[in-house]
This record gives sequence, structure tokens and C-alpha cells, in this order.
Amino acid sequence: MKQPFDPDIAFPRIEAAIAPFPKAGLSLLMDEGHTTAFEQLVACIISIRTLDEIMLPVARRLFEAAPTPHAISELSPETIETLIYGCGFHKGKAKQIHAIAQQVVNEYDGVLPCDLNVLLSLHGVGPKCAHLVLSIACGQEYIGVDTHVHRISNRWGYVVGKTPEKTLAALEAKLPRKHWNAINRLLVPFGKNICTPIGPKCPACPVLEMCQQVGVKERPSAK
Ligand code: SF4
Repeated sequence: MKQPFDPDIAFPRIEAAIAPFPKAGLSLLMDEGHTTAFEQLVACIISIRTLDEIMLPVARRLFEAAPTPHAISELSPETIETLIYGCGFHKGKAKQIHAIAQQVVNEYDGVLPCDLNVLLSLHGVGPKCAHLVLSIACGQEYIGVDTHVHRISNRWGYVVGKTPEKTLAALEAKLPRKHWNAINRLLVPFGKNICTPIGPKCPACPVLEMCQQVGVKERPSAK
């Protein structure tokens, strides 16, 4: 018999379960000193359709060469393309990062403000990266719905959302605000190591008793 999903109970258990695993890429960059909204936004853009294992060295290489909006705006898109080579869609991302750096220099005096409307007005920036930046770099209460948060919160049966946008709206309506900033930080390593896209380790999962396992066809044994 399943218990109702309770984030007050589940989140501390997940926090303990992910302790042995690496943090999410954006959090690791924060720990390394890449703490500005601009750096976190650029790293988030680089991370789209790109594994953290690739995003991290690419972001570090770019920030080492050009750590500020002003410095990046002075690079050509072709140079940025070379610096971020290795991530998915690097040509398009290089143009996007260059355009955003120019916009930040020209319109915000070189400092990207912690403001949702400003972030969403930037070239190609959507709710996922905007919310992650505001949550991680700015300490504001926002839910960052990436592929892990979308998949896992639907597997729990806590929300029903066919798209990340619908999952975001459902989480905003249901998840207590005190958990908004934590959910992405917790579910990225949880989704990479325990509630994996294929073969989730349900028998070893700390929230099995309250997870409806929606769409999890096989119940693999713990490994
Ligand atoms: S019980 Fe399985 S599907 Fe549910 S959160 Fe845990 S690993 Fe994921």
C-alpha cells in the first residue's frame, strides 16, 4: 500500500541518498566561484542537450578566456564557438551567448539583473534557464524544471504534466515554496544515479513507499 507523496519526508531522504554522488553541474560551478547570474545563465545555455560531464569543462574554458559579459561581448561568435566546442549545438549557442553578452553590456551596464522578465527577454532564454539562474545564483524562490525534475515528479504521481512547462505549472500549484529551490538540486543527481531514465533502482529507492512509479514498467532489482 503506497503512502501519499510527502516532500517534507521525501526530500531529506533524497538529500541523504545523493550525498555520495557529484552535485548538479550548475551547483558545482557555483562552488568554484562562478556565482553571477550571467555565468549561471551561460552555463545553463551550454548545458542544454549536453551532459554535465561535457558542460563543465566547456564552461570552465569559456570563463577562463572571458569571465564577464564585457569580455565575452568582445569575442567574435566564431571564437566563442571554438571555446565551447564539444557541447551540443555549439554554433547556435555561440551566437546566443554573444548576443546576450552584448545585450547585458548595452542595456544593463554589464551586470545581468536577477529579474525574471529581464532574463526571459534575452535572446533565446526560456523558463528553465531563467528559473535555474534565479534559484541558484540569485537565491530567489523558483522551480527549475529540467528533464530530471519533469520525469521524476511525474513518476512519483505528485503531479501530472505531459511537458516540462505543464509540470512546472503543476509543481508551482502544489509544491510548498520552501522546497522550490531544492527540487532541481536534489533531483539532478537523484535522476542520474537512482531514478534513472532507464532501469530506475526502485528497490533501493528511499521514497519507494510513497512513489506511484507512474510509467515505470519494469521493477528492476537493486544493483
Ligand atoms: S521508486 Fe523508482 S520511480 Fe519512484 S522515485 Fe524511486 S527510483 Fe524513481
